[in-house]
Amino acid sequence: MIFFESTTFWSKILGVTKPKRDKSFGNKELAYFLFLILMCLFYIIWHSPYVSTQRLKDTTVTMDFYEERLKLNLESSSMDVDLTERERDQLLLAIEELIVGFLYQIPDYSYISSLETYLQYRPKLLEQFPSAVPLEKGNYTITSNYGIRIHPISEKEKKHYGIDLATARGKYVYASASGTILNILYSKKGYGTHIIIKHRFGFITLYGHLEKVLVQKGQIVKQHEIIGTVGSTGSSTGYHLHYEILKNKNKIDPKPSFNLKKDVYTHLIKTSTIKGGAE
Ligand SMILES: [Zn+2]
Repeated sequence: MIFFESTTFWSKILGVTKPKRDKSFGNKELAYFLFLILMCLFYIIWHSPYVSTQRLKDTTVTMDFYEERLKLNLESSSMDVDLTERERDQLLLAIEELIVGFLYQIPDYSYISSLETYLQYRPKLLEQFPSAVPLEKGNYTITSNYGIRIHPISEKEKKHYGIDLATARGKYVYASASGTILNILYSKKGYGTHIIIKHRFGFITLYGHLEKVLVQKGQIVKQHEIIGTVGSTGSSTGYHLHYEILKNKNKIDPKPSFNLKKDVYTHLIKTSTIKGGAE
């Protein structure tokens, strides 16, 4: 305010007159206004549920097409090895251009089947989003699945937004994908001590009822890195890990992600053994 007052003061002293403002709404302004409206409309239409669903459908069809071609290429018994390899490279390149958009668009794991063959060529992609169990393999039991259940404490019917994995106290909890520690929260109720990790492609994971936290907020973690230990903090009736996956802000069933990486690598080991044996 002082600045403006002094400017007015000096303007008066020096006899400077303000330039007259043209208040008319000219063609330029009208064009700019229309442009803004058009941009808003475009944004609304582009983000409308119908257009998003249609876009997802189209991308899925494209991905399925490449997946099929890739599978055929893999099974090809053509004598021209060079030609087969060249076609495979082209197909992989074409998918790579679409993959990021596709992975961001998909709402859950049911769409991953469109990438089955592709993932055998690019298994490292499985490190970028939840594709493994956050506990030691075979050392846990699923005590509660994702979906409607009777809550063990309130005894009321409630939707369970995660999966409960019971195991011994103090067992290590691992990050199910590479990412950044978004938050570490300590609560006496609900999730108790819990860690939230942000991954690529709109994935977030939550690890609840922990005993110890072995990471810090903002820390970058790799897939399978130890983040904490199993406890029974918060609303919990026994030692277990409550594990959640959020995709594009929606809580989804984590179960289909558990064996994703394992299945791809098992297949890779099997095929390399077959190939190795034939040589
Ligand atoms: Zn739970």
